[in-house]
Amino acid sequence: MRLVYTEKAKLPIGEHIFQASKYGAIREQLLAAGAFHESAFVAPEPCRDEDLLLVHTKLWVNKLKNGTMSTREELELEVPYSKELAEAFWYMTGGSMMAAGLALEEGCCVHLGGGFHHAFADHGEGFCLVNDVAVAIRVLQRDGKIARAMVVDCDVHQGNGTAAIFGTGDPEPFPRASWSASLLEPKRAAHVKTSATRDVFTVSLHQESNYPYWKPPSSIDVNLPDGTSDGEYLEWLDTALKGAKERFQPELLCYISGADPYAEDQLGGLGLSIEGLRERDRMVFRYARDNGFPIMTTLAGGYARKPADTVTIHVNTALAAKEVFGA
Ligand SMILES: [Zn+2]
Repeated sequence: MRLVYTEKAKLPIGEHIFQASKYGAIREQLLAAGAFHESAFVAPEPCRDEDLLLVHTKLWVNKLKNGTMSTREELELEVPYSKELAEAFWYMTGGSMMAAGLALEEGCCVHLGGGFHHAFADHGEGFCLVNDVAVAIRVLQRDGKIARAMVVDCDVHQGNGTAAIFGTGDPEPFPRASWSASLLEPKRAAHVKTSATRDVFTVSLHQESNYPYWKPPSSIDVNLPDGTSDGEYLEWLDTALKGAKERFQPELLCYISGADPYAEDQLGGLGLSIEGLRERDRMVFRYARDNGFPIMTTLAGGYARKPADTVTIHVNTALAAKEVFGA
């Protein structure tokens, strides 16, 4: 199994709650543990503007390239804009495109980066300038490699940009008979919503009372209550994955893993442990393997009080992929 990584995607944002140094640290730790050989790492090229334009508006791409966004637009990013930052996002997106392509060829690929799911077609927000996963999907569709993809987003924050980009249309009545039959009964119910879907099926499990406060509808949104535990989370994930498969057969699964459902995260309010998050990763990888869905993975957010915990959680995601898919 190969891992996509390049130093050129390092986000030049200085001291920030988003620790841009985590990507290099993850790579070092995977090498030091002997889990992956140097030759497993492959470096992407930056995406091209025409790739971005499959998802983003020309106006937004121009603003990113030329630094002509408004003060308000820059504030919404919550990271300091620079042309170097935009360039890093071109590499991040190239990385997710490469990981998606390798997943189709080899079954599984992890991008040590990516997952910028708060970027919309015409603006960025929440540390996200470009929606790398959405671009990767649209590029494969343009090139005739796939028609249908599924996004499974387990970051603690809802994938609002992804949901809006793949716009799902009118909500379906809920509960559907097949869903209600398979619903488990955790002690505290999550609020589940489902919507009609087109060519990309989006699943998001996230903390309900957290950013983003406006949550455009995904195909399946599981709005979890504060403090959700390992056991509760894994039951809801299992239910959502089974429900997704009933409704949609993807040719590629894009997993946005996220380290921030962790109990010790500074921007999250769920209660998962490091071991629970590893079990979450195993569940998603087994789901992909057992159903024959090629899977590409991105890392997304992670803001643990101890930065080393964020690195450990992301390292475990790569290890879980290797465990399930083999070397
Ligand atoms: Zn997040």
